[in-house]
Amino acid sequence: MARRRDGITRRDFLKLSVTIAAAAAAAPVARMAAPADSGGEGRVYYEFWYLEDPETIAYYEALGLVLEHNGRKCLANPLLPDRCLAYTVPAERDRWPIKPPGASKDFFSRCIRCGLCYFACSLAGYHAIRLAGLGDGGLRMLGTPVVDDMRNHPCTLCMECTRVCPTGALEEVLEEARERAAVRAEQAGGNVTEAREQDIELLVLDREILEKTRMGIALIDPDLCLAWNSGDCKSCASACPFGAVVFKFTFNPWGVHTEVKPEYCVGCGKCVHACPVGGAAIHVLPEDEYWRRVKNYKNTGMSYWDYLKLILRVEDEDPATATIRSQVNVEYVQKIRGVEEEKIVTELKGAGGGQA
Ligand code: SF4
Ligand code: SF4
Ligand code: SF4
Repeated sequence: MARRRDGITRRDFLKLSVTIAAAAAAAPVARMAAPADSGGEGRVYYEFWYLEDPETIAYYEALGLVLEHNGRKCLANPLLPDRCLAYTVPAERDRWPIKPPGASKDFFSRCIRCGLCYFACSLAGYHAIRLAGLGDGGLRMLGTPVVDDMRNHPCTLCMECTRVCPTGALEEVLEEARERAAVRAEQAGGNVTEAREQDIELLVLDREILEKTRMGIALIDPDLCLAWNSGDCKSCASACPFGAVVFKFTFNPWGVHTEVKPEYCVGCGKCVHACPVGGAAIHVLPEDEYWRRVKNYKNTGMSYWDYLKLILRVEDEDPATATIRSQVNVEYVQKIRGVEEEKIVTELKGAGGGQA
């Protein structure tokens, strides 16, 4: 739902932030970051913005946004000033051994490491599958198919891999979805032939099939995403085969605020490929990693959804802080990650078109 803010424009806020910068010049600097920011358990999937340039340090010190962390100066999160602002690492460094669509529950005992899925994917020109090596997960995973470079080679859900798999390690979920749709059509007196010819949209319309198809779940970092920082970007939603079924938008003067509804995402990674932010602001994670990550998002001590709510609340109630947050994030993205402007799409296309 659109959110509204009366009486003051964004231009006013930008002016206000400069005033705040001057007023904050006397603010105490070199505060210590909260110890919890020293990194999460296991794999640390985010990084801080360590400031090196004296001019940048002076500017953010004037705003009271510089913390000491491990002997270095990091930028503080304007929403949580005792914590370093954390950004999800680029997708190339956030890879997971995700299985192709339709992986059966007993995938590892069924997969005979024949590589047929790999060849089918390569012959189709998608190159989404590679075969796992020893370093991916030992003998258990060796030779099994992995889809882990979604930034460059997402899964197109062509389903060729499921058709060629000789053991059912990858199940023919689309065919099963079509059969189920045909049965439903017959029971309802509908068109059975048409039901059998439906395309991949069927995969998310049938809950049981969706669960069987799922490779992972996509997660957007609101501190990197253009749509959460004053931008108008719907590149991920537009690239998603299921568009507005999967995505949710909250509009206000600070942006489109794009979210993935986890219950509908199959984890194909087309959104990761489409994101214009360097290293992608949206990553696909295996389900267990996704749920672990959203529980204590970027070690903020709050869930992913509470963090999103905090951003929206600050945008409503504290526009000066919201403006600074947005400025900081845009500067980080532009300076450190870069933006592929030609990839920015502002209209929903394809399956998602017109349903925002
Ligand atoms: S469904 Fe995905 S992983 Fe399987 S062959 Fe097609 S592109 Fe490759
Ligand atoms: S949100 Fe991304 S990963 Fe999920 S179904 Fe859409 S394109 Fe695929
Ligand atoms: S494509 Fe990237 S920047 Fe654009 S809305 Fe999606 S996650 Fe955000």
